[in-house]
Amino acid sequence: MTLRRRELVRARREMQVVFQDPFGSLNPRWRVTELVEEPLLGYGVRGAEARRERVGELLDLVGLDPATHGRRRPGELSGGQCQRVAIARAIALNPALVICDEAVSSLDVLVQAQVLNLFEQLRRELGLSYLFISHDLALVKQVSDRVAVMHLGQLTEIGPAASLYRRPRHPYTSALLASIPDPTPGSGRAQRRPAPLSGEPPSPLDPPTGCRFRTRCSRAQARCEREQPVLREHAPGHLAASHFPL
Ligand code: SF4
Repeated sequence: MTLRRRELVRARREMQVVFQDPFGSLNPRWRVTELVEEPLLGYGVRGAEARRERVGELLDLVGLDPATHGRRRPGELSGGQCQRVAIARAIALNPALVICDEAVSSLDVLVQAQVLNLFEQLRRELGLSYLFISHDLALVKQVSDRVAVMHLGQLTEIGPAASLYRRPRHPYTSALLASIPDPTPGSGRAQRRPAPLSGEPPSPLDPPTGCRFRTRCSRAQARCEREQPVLREHAPGHLAASHFPL
């Protein structure tokens, strides 16, 4: 889909991104107040006083003190604080959607939980929607209403989180879910290794014909080599792309 320039500007305002590396996504020479003011300037929010007030509001919202943290540069902040600055920048223009691209994966577990709580608080207060991109399936389960699984650049399964985690229909999703360690004592899954997937992952530059998962799928048959499966609905709102779904 192509957008005209004006539509693109509006779409960018409505959609913001928080990236994985909080240090890499912020200009190390700028102070926190400048970093948070930048999107306001970029989208023509007029008046230095109005912008200063908005920056203070945003820093409050993400749990940073404008008086102390506002004067610092990224190198003087922790990873969690930098990610809060990145979140303040992302929500500065009141977007409808924030794309979180592995946004907590570089943080330690404790800080990760704090930042996830912040995302949840902002969702409630500002009515935001998030698109979380993550390899951490336990995290995805915790934060998602709806989950889409991709394999070699293609959607293999999409559905309500509860339905997809309870009963995955695609063999790839099933293998992924079996690899999540269960920390419950006595579950017997604490030491669980990833479900055996035979063979090496194919190159995304030269994927197999038909179903891209077929070289590693225990259910593969001749049809899987000939025909690329398409997404089909197997339960309300729950789709999988497999000729022989589970
Ligand atoms: S289409 Fe065939 S190879 Fe692909 S996931 Fe389904 S059963 Fe496995």
